[in-house]
Amino acid sequence: TQYVYRFGGGVSDGGRGDRNLLGGKGANLDEMASIGLPVPPGFTISTPMCAVYYDEGGKFPDSLKAEVANGIAHIEQITGKRFGDAADPLLVSVRSGARASMPGMMDTVLNLGLNDATVEGLATVSGDARFAWDSYRRFIQMYSDVVLELDHSRFEEALEIAKEDNGYYLDTDLTADDWRKLVDEYKALVQELWGKPFPQDVHDQLWGAIGAVFGSWQSERAKVYRRLNDIPASWGTAVNVQAMVFGNMGDTSATGVAFTRDPSKGDNAYYGEFLINAQGEDVVAGIRTPQYLTKAAREAAGAKPASMEEAMPEVYGELANVFDLLERHYRDMQDIEFTVQQGKLWMLQTRSGKRTAKAALKIAVDMANEGLITREEAIARIDPAALDQLLHPTLDPKAPRDVLTKGLPASPGAASGKVVFTADAAETAAKDGQDVILVRVETSPEDIHGMHAAKGILTARGGMTSHAAVVARGMGRPCVSGAGALSIGNGVMRVGDREVKEGDILTIDGSTGEVMAGAVPTVQPELSGDFGTLMEWADGIRRMKVRTNAETPLDCRTARDFGAEGIGLCRTEHMFFEASRITSVRQMILASDEAGRRAALEKLLPEQRSDFVEIFETMAGLPCTIRLLDPPLHEFLPHADAEFEDLATATGIDIDTLKRRAAELHEFNPMLGHRGCRLGVTYPEIYEMQARAIFEAAVSLEAAPVPEIMIPLVATKRELELMKAVVDKAAEAVFAETGKRVDYLVGTMIELPRAALRAGEIAEAGQFFSFGTNDLTQTTLGVSRDDAARFLTDYVEQGIYAKDPFVSLDVEGVGELVKLAAERGRATRGDIKLGICGEHGGDPASIAFCEAVGLDYVSASPYRVPIARLAAAQAAL
Ligand code: ADP
Ligand code: MG
Ligand code: MG
Repeated sequence: TQYVYRFGGGVSDGGRGDRNLLGGKGANLDEMASIGLPVPPGFTISTPMCAVYYDEGGKFPDSLKAEVANGIAHIEQITGKRFGDAADPLLVSVRSGARASMPGMMDTVLNLGLNDATVEGLATVSGDARFAWDSYRRFIQMYSDVVLELDHSRFEEALEIAKEDNGYYLDTDLTADDWRKLVDEYKALVQELWGKPFPQDVHDQLWGAIGAVFGSWQSERAKVYRRLNDIPASWGTAVNVQAMVFGNMGDTSATGVAFTRDPSKGDNAYYGEFLINAQGEDVVAGIRTPQYLTKAAREAAGAKPASMEEAMPEVYGELANVFDLLERHYRDMQDIEFTVQQGKLWMLQTRSGKRTAKAALKIAVDMANEGLITREEAIARIDPAALDQLLHPTLDPKAPRDVLTKGLPASPGAASGKVVFTADAAETAAKDGQDVILVRVETSPEDIHGMHAAKGILTARGGMTSHAAVVARGMGRPCVSGAGALSIGNGVMRVGDREVKEGDILTIDGSTGEVMAGAVPTVQPELSGDFGTLMEWADGIRRMKVRTNAETPLDCRTARDFGAEGIGLCRTEHMFFEASRITSVRQMILASDEAGRRAALEKLLPEQRSDFVEIFETMAGLPCTIRLLDPPLHEFLPHADAEFEDLATATGIDIDTLKRRAAELHEFNPMLGHRGCRLGVTYPEIYEMQARAIFEAAVSLEAAPVPEIMIPLVATKRELELMKAVVDKAAEAVFAETGKRVDYLVGTMIELPRAALRAGEIAEAGQFFSFGTNDLTQTTLGVSRDDAARFLTDYVEQGIYAKDPFVSLDVEGVGELVKLAAERGRATRGDIKLGICGEHGGDPASIAFCEAVGLDYVSASPYRVPIARLAAAQAAL
């Protein structure tokens, strides 16, 4: 097998289609080289070698030596320099690159190939000793950290001391001699910490670095990132070895990162940062504050240092052309890394850029309107789950704010919470259910778990493309970065004379960069513009309808604003819990005979009727599925003595009798107890009252809906027949009394395996099925929803279920029952209406399954309705 693939100098052994083999970085370097962009030559060791390396216990097969030697020869031939040549040495970078981009997760080594001899050669040929020694000290520092895994703080300390001793402020203030001295100190440090001298053989250096990149695939931070992003460990990383180009060769050299459009807001404007006379990670590491790419961005920010457009107009023009070319070529917004070496532009990386949900929407809609992509592609590109970011509240613009300071608006959205200063503290507090804001000088990949746990992130240093900003945008966390006025230490954060301690409440606005003391109230977002456009396109494509699970007029209103086309599940028991009614409900439950129950139900009837009037009015003729009473009765019982006393007063029954009656209702396993249609079978008067309330409401309205009355927890056809008779009788009674009729349907939830299996005959008695996948999951898996948390995480971690089956439908098991019931139901009744009303109705993967089985609609909670609309469209593409 071939493991090494070359690129550059007119050669491209691979291309953009090879990302599984070469990793994203390698495949795109090949692609850029093949379309004629200036890419330093190099080669990629393919991802399968990662597994081989681990299988061999951290060794490489002999065949790889020859292949790598060929790869180096390729670079030597194109650059005209030789690896290890003391007179004119070839230097390379060793870079990781997995299939999916894992920003900042893996380690990169720059300037490899420098040693005590080649550094002199580099100084001579470049005519710049300062540059040569700066590169050498960077190399020793990186290599010691990444490959030798020595304590990097010792190296940073040595640099800090060197600066202090000389009264310098910036790294760029150090002279060739200063760097030379520091290199001596670094080498002594390596000897002290590692017990051996710094490797002088360039081939040892190269193989050490290649091993370290493969090794970093199993580092803790890489594992955390993979877990959070569902990246399988089996993919492995590739290793890229590439000729160095130098952004640190003086004032005509620079390095930078850019996006072809604004990754935060989505505007069609170049967006990025660069630093003159700098190398690689300097821009993202926040060592110096980077400068803007464009003049417009600099002016908008009111910043002074010249933008790249102003400082290097010619190279900037070239770069802008490359941006346009790459965007057209990849038909997507690109995230680009480049270096300018003495006025010559070099491309070092391109990939589809991570973006906020807001930017994703704008970019997709704009690109479709520009004709760059189709509407279908625009729809396919939006992650439905990410819409969540847009549907949630932002800061109330009218609310007073106690603004402490302002940083960069690095990731939009607002968040309030208690201040914590470490990632671990954020994680601990979040586990306790607290909202926290993670405040750091700057973040590093070690902080990922804390950033994930936090509601928002605030950093004192770092630009718009700093680690904190990139990661926060990817996670959808609000982030304010580079709030330079902050000083942080010893459990307090200071701004001027203000102090914020650990545990104090802080609010950040990632859309404006504002940092505020205390909590600030929020308002609902506006769902127009690009959001509306994309939703409209999605609605034009999807086949399934999207309904909502809602029982209050407010929920119904919200869901309709989000585009719901009906109610898929109205749980009537929620109405029973209301304070004004609970006494009548309790009276009904505790009554000793039918007459007693009827008396209490009489009082509930007008209340239920007005609920339905309101709901039907809000839904304005759209279909409404109403589920009759479902939970075990004891859920409504009084607990506290005071509640029993109130009840005794209201009913005239003495407390002891009430308590005895309550005790009688106790069940050992209420989920499988006296609930659902079993209540209707034993106490038909309850369902009769509910049905009556529904019909009285329906006939009273001009635009009468077609109520879909749903009987819960049916296992047999006979149960449904009996309950349908109760409903029909109530309907006829109301129609006779009022002289008005409405159409209605009676159907059932399919939430017991028996019901799914017997769906063929159940469909004889019912006109629709709604899959109650919460209970169906519980009853099929034999897993109690309320007790599952204790072990389900372990189940998912050990791969027993791919995802929590209560969040994403267990397609193989529960899904098979759904499919079978749908088929059997349809065989009996060709036009049977089929829907889903479990939590799964708002989960994109489950929605794709519903499309595949041909359900008529999904029903989701109000805030998930837009997610469901988009997911249903994607499923239909
Ligand atoms: P990451 O995946 O963390 O972005 P990279 O492999 O892209 O790591 O390397 C980080 C940075 O190092 C690049 O953005 C670039 O600035 C610099 N770099 C990498 N390879 C080279 C090279 N051959 N010449 C000059 N700079 C390089
Ligand atoms: Mg990179
Ligand atoms: Mg149920």
